[in-house]
Amino acid sequence: PVTNETILQWLQRSAQVLHENNAYLTELDSAIGDADHGSNMDRGFNAVITKIADMQEADIGTLLKTVGTTLVSTVGGASGPLYGTAFLRAGMATTGKKALETADIVAMFEAAVEGVKARGKAQAGEKTMLDALIPAIEAGKQAQLEQVDIPELLKRMAASAASGMQSTIGLTATKGRASYLGERSVGHQDPGATSSWLIVQALADTVA
Ligand code: ADP
Ligand code: MG
Ligand code: MG
Repeated sequence: PVTNETILQWLQRSAQVLHENNAYLTELDSAIGDADHGSNMDRGFNAVITKIADMQEADIGTLLKTVGTTLVSTVGGASGPLYGTAFLRAGMATTGKKALETADIVAMFEAAVEGVKARGKAQAGEKTMLDALIPAIEAGKQAQLEQVDIPELLKRMAASAASGMQSTIGLTATKGRASYLGERSVGHQDPGATSSWLIVQALADTVA
């Protein structure tokens, strides 16, 4: 199972990976946004690891809710409330748990994705983080049906997030700042879909 200790390691790895990709995410956002997605995510997850540093005993729900509130208060922009909602909903779906089995993991991601959809009033195909997250949860549900083990399930989710991220290059943005560019947003990879892939990949790498 995925324990509270695994979740802490995932959050630390996510912070590290987002820090390493700060310039890359900002470069993507400079093409179709306002060139701050890298610094937004780096700042937010840096605050997260400070906040969770002494939470080794906390259950997974408490940990994830703390991540959500920290991201809401430190990230700002469009992505702060969206990632904040994602982690808050993930925390509500895992309240009181110190270990997650396959069904809990799928339910946690599903709650997070539903939260992003509701908060951003967006759906698949609008060139947002949802274009990485929705394929990931679909792959997770399929892997659950096939009864694969948790490392394999997360590996498939990360692979689907990556192809979903790549698919954003061909899409026209209809939500967020990139939508101001209309069809000129085509040809550029969405920064939020990219950070979403990095975060899902970080969990797959943590349990591998
Ligand atoms: P801002 O656009 O306010 O500067 P960021 O640059 O941090 O915020 O985040 C931009 C990302 O937020 C986009 O690349 C996109 O993936 C995501 N995003 C924007 N609006 C929405 C929305 N309504 N639903 C889902 N994701 C969105
Ligand atoms: Mg931006
Ligand atoms: Mg901004």
